[in-house]
Amino acid sequence: MLRINNLSVSYGPVAALRGIDLTVEAGETVALVGSNGAGKSTTLKAISGLVPPSGGTIEFLGETLNGLKPEAIVERGIVHVPEGRRIFPRLSVEQNLEVGAYSARAAMRRRRIREEVYALFPRLRERRQQMGGSLSGGEQQMLAFGRAMMAQPTLLLLDEPSLGLAPIIVEEVIRAIAHFRAEGVTILLVEQNAELALTLSARGYVLETGQVVLTDESQTLITHPKVWASYLGEK
Ligand code: ATP
Repeated sequence: MLRINNLSVSYGPVAALRGIDLTVEAGETVALVGSNGAGKSTTLKAISGLVPPSGGTIEFLGETLNGLKPEAIVERGIVHVPEGRRIFPRLSVEQNLEVGAYSARAAMRRRRIREEVYALFPRLRERRQQMGGSLSGGEQQMLAFGRAMMAQPTLLLLDEPSLGLAPIIVEEVIRAIAHFRAEGVTILLVEQNAELALTLSARGYVLETGQVVLTDESQTLITHPKVWASYLGEK
């Protein structure tokens, strides 16, 4: 479904990605792990058109995404939930959800999906008239998931959904990811919490300083000495 070949991205003189290859098949959940600054967020931003590649190709459903604007990429069914949620603090919960359904592909089914969001996260229904900025961090993450559901993704890009959340809220994140999977949504999951990401995924990639250093089935990676030493051992 998603095919990335030899992708490079630079921020001025900083080479953030140095020729990565990565594939995601339809219906898969794939993890992208690695330490701070490894290039995980940049990979997601390149897929969703927020940063331009300096080399390589990104193909989705057989079509190249290079050079497309972020709006055009959303229309193709790729929805990015960025690190730090990025909800609109001065819009209500319900207005935030409506923003998610702005694309033509999502608008038709918006009412039904909004009900699905509220069924999954009753707390959002209770708070639907409240400003997004008044929600707790965990509620904002739920709202970011709800907004992504409203956009009806084919491929969901999740950047650090568990970051800074209490364990009980991380359970909610896991529930939301399970919901997307049950709907057949393909997921590329970025996490510094490698254990969580590898538990939730079938396959994974390990990034180090802008390069893929390991890729395998997640259950193999989770016991791999290198992954253990670098990302899991200190827990
Ligand atoms: P994190 O979890 O901290 O976001 P990451 O693995 O997602 O880490 P990236 O955010 O993709 O890593 O960053 C990769 C490299 O690119 C790092 O060296 C980072 O400092 C650099 N970088 C990221 N964004 C910018 C930017 N806007 N301008 C300049 N350099 C950047």
